Amino acid sequence: MGLEVHLQLATESKIFSGAATRFGAEPNVQACAVDLGMPGMLPVLNARAVQYAVMFGLGVGARIGKRSVFDRKNYFYPDLPKGYQVSQFFEPIVCEGKFEVPMPDGSLFPVRITRAHLEEDAGKSVHDAYAGQTGIDLNRAGTPLLEIVTEPDFRTAEQAVAYLKSLHSLATYLGISDGNMAEGSMRCDVNISLRPTGTEVYGTRTEIKNVNSFRFVEKAIAVETERQMDILESGGHIVQETRLYDADRNETRSMRSKEVANDYRYFPEPDLLPIVLDDAYIDNIRAGLPELPGAKRARFIETYGLSDYDASLLVDSRTTADFFEAATDISKAPKLTANWILGDLAGALNRESLDLTESPVSPEALAGLIVRIADDTLSSKLAKQVFEGLWLGEGTADEIIEARGLKQVTDTGALESLVAQVIEGHPDQVTQYQAADEAKQKKLLGFFVGQVMKASKGQANPQRLNGLLRAMLDSG
Ligand code: MN
Repeated sequence: MGLEVHLQLATESKIFSGAATRFGAEPNVQACAVDLGMPGMLPVLNARAVQYAVMFGLGVGARIGKRSVFDRKNYFYPDLPKGYQVSQFFEPIVCEGKFEVPMPDGSLFPVRITRAHLEEDAGKSVHDAYAGQTGIDLNRAGTPLLEIVTEPDFRTAEQAVAYLKSLHSLATYLGISDGNMAEGSMRCDVNISLRPTGTEVYGTRTEIKNVNSFRFVEKAIAVETERQMDILESGGHIVQETRLYDADRNETRSMRSKEVANDYRYFPEPDLLPIVLDDAYIDNIRAGLPELPGAKRARFIETYGLSDYDASLLVDSRTTADFFEAATDISKAPKLTANWILGDLAGALNRESLDLTESPVSPEALAGLIVRIADDTLSSKLAKQVFEGLWLGEGTADEIIEARGLKQVTDTGALESLVAQVIEGHPDQVTQYQAADEAKQKKLLGFFVGQVMKASKGQANPQRLNGLLRAMLDSG
């Protein structure tokens, strides 16, 4: 498999005009005469789009095309009123690169980037607004896109999805795209072919167009692989064509047979000059790049002693990574902090369908809780109650511990008297314990722990309690 991704760049205005790019406006209020290609209109290149493309190229370790050229890709479609799309065919702005994708098992999977080029988006055909008719919304026409093409390096759906997630994360770190897949900010085409094990030559491929979620990419690959395998195993041939993934039916179906490249009659766009970039421009952008996910992940493992897995999850989004660092700065307990962010906090956010940016618990508040776990004021059970208080806005961890009376009993004297009470109250179990073998003793110890916990309303420190109980039971 090889992947092509169309990434919408987060510029305020279109790639060749001053019309706004905001998502969700009334149809046809954000397309100007330039976007429609009216006679006499001249496009003006958006410098920000060029900057974003170069940032991306540097982010994937690609060679930057110091001279790139726009071409017209000619085709007819109702949502393309100009009759051509301005794209870059012969000389793209981003050339070959190699992108290392972290896999769930902690390994790195290298993907060869073939190229990435700037182009304009088309409008949208709206099929569900009028019965029996199709509406055309041209707001999207002229929105800047970066089309990112890979070599056929993917062998599994897992690799493809890991690459897409990684690309998504890179784009949002760089701030070059909002990465909102539901709004079409990142669309993926999957080129897929099968060949017998051990052979070199690729089979005939199909292209699944415009898949717009990670889960659908995974499913589309699975059903298309199955479909091609059935055809090949029954002696048939694959038709080279473009297919559409239908999520409702979980199947791919034919859209159109593949137009060969020269059907588009590419030729240089006469209204735009080539983009010529010098070293100073590129170096300046390189110097301004933020720390990227790969480097951040390595630093998290190195500096905080996190596992590959936790580090990957934390750096996945810049918001999560920043939250983690802000909280760890105060808590000084990186592993515990990672566990709480990826565990209880993520779970609570998920239940309420909230994003981390909307979290009612701030990094400082969570750190306050973690400090009290680390210094043994709270058992993990009590900590969950404090977290609930933080979530409900009851104050800081210390205020909640005070108000809810959640302090863990760690004082040896207090624990001893609790243990003594329980032992006195259960003479039969004590006799049983003293006569029992090791396995049976363990079971009975659990009984005593339960009783002391009950007597302390869950506030006895379990580690200390265990030791004390054993000592007092063994001494008879
Ligand atoms: Mn394209």
